[in-house]
Amino acid sequence: MKKVLLAILGILIIIVAVLLIKTYTYPFKKNTTGAGEGWKPVRNDSAVMRFSGGLKIPTVSTGSLGEFNYAPFGQFKEYLKNSYPLVYQNTEYVEVNQYGLVYRLKGSNPGLEPILFLSHMDVVPPGDADIKNNEENIFRPEDKPLEPVAKVAEDWDYAPFSGVVANGRVYGRGAIDMKGMLFSLMESMNSLIKNKQIPQRDIYLAFGFDEEVGGKNGAIQIADYFKKKGLKFDAVYDEGGLIMRKGNIAGVDADVAVVGCAEKGFLSAKIKVKGLG
Ligand SMILES: [Zn+2]
Repeated sequence: MKKVLLAILGILIIIVAVLLIKTYTYPFKKNTTGAGEGWKPVRNDSAVMRFSGGLKIPTVSTGSLGEFNYAPFGQFKEYLKNSYPLVYQNTEYVEVNQYGLVYRLKGSNPGLEPILFLSHMDVVPPGDADIKNNEENIFRPEDKPLEPVAKVAEDWDYAPFSGVVANGRVYGRGAIDMKGMLFSLMESMNSLIKNKQIPQRDIYLAFGFDEEVGGKNGAIQIADYFKKKGLKFDAVYDEGGLIMRKGNIAGVDADVAVVGCAEKGFLSAKIKVKGLG
């Protein structure tokens, strides 16, 4: 009996040793694609103003696709063209099903598979705030929406399509979901082109316009377009979690950035934490 126990103990020690050695010697790949040389953060007022202008356009997804008011979507499309002329001059630009927007920035190495970044321009209706009352908030190029406007509804500190910049924040329906990412992508691409930083891989951006009601006319048509072109992506980046102030996740007394990783690929992260386990 004692011998058996000793044998089991021996096996356990070997397993733990193997696990520890594996853990410490596993060849996690060093990420060299991050803040490399020549990297500059986009942090300027004009970027904020371009984003704010985009929030003023009420690209609302309604319950059924037949009910869509497409006028703001056309307006939004034109707004992007006017805001990022460099991107339109330096990428292959395709409109899929009229309002689905695809951009391709050609990389230097055609042997590498491209990568794809997604966003959508539509937003959910602003709840109890009456859109009609906010028609005066629809974007006009001369607008400088820096002043807070009056409260329009219980749920809103600022009108949902005001794009107000106040208290160090940008307010508006779609600021998080998902014009924030859309404008970040456009700013990034604009900055790459401006700084003549040509990536090795082709970079694709694709923006849908009916994500909030299923994506039938937008994302699905764009996917079809990619399929017909025979494109295969090395990685696809889509809408993810939020960065939240502390107090928004029960039991976590800190700001939290939610990292989502699913369906494809993997993420290696090195995280240092101080405190009790
Ligand atoms: Zn979304």
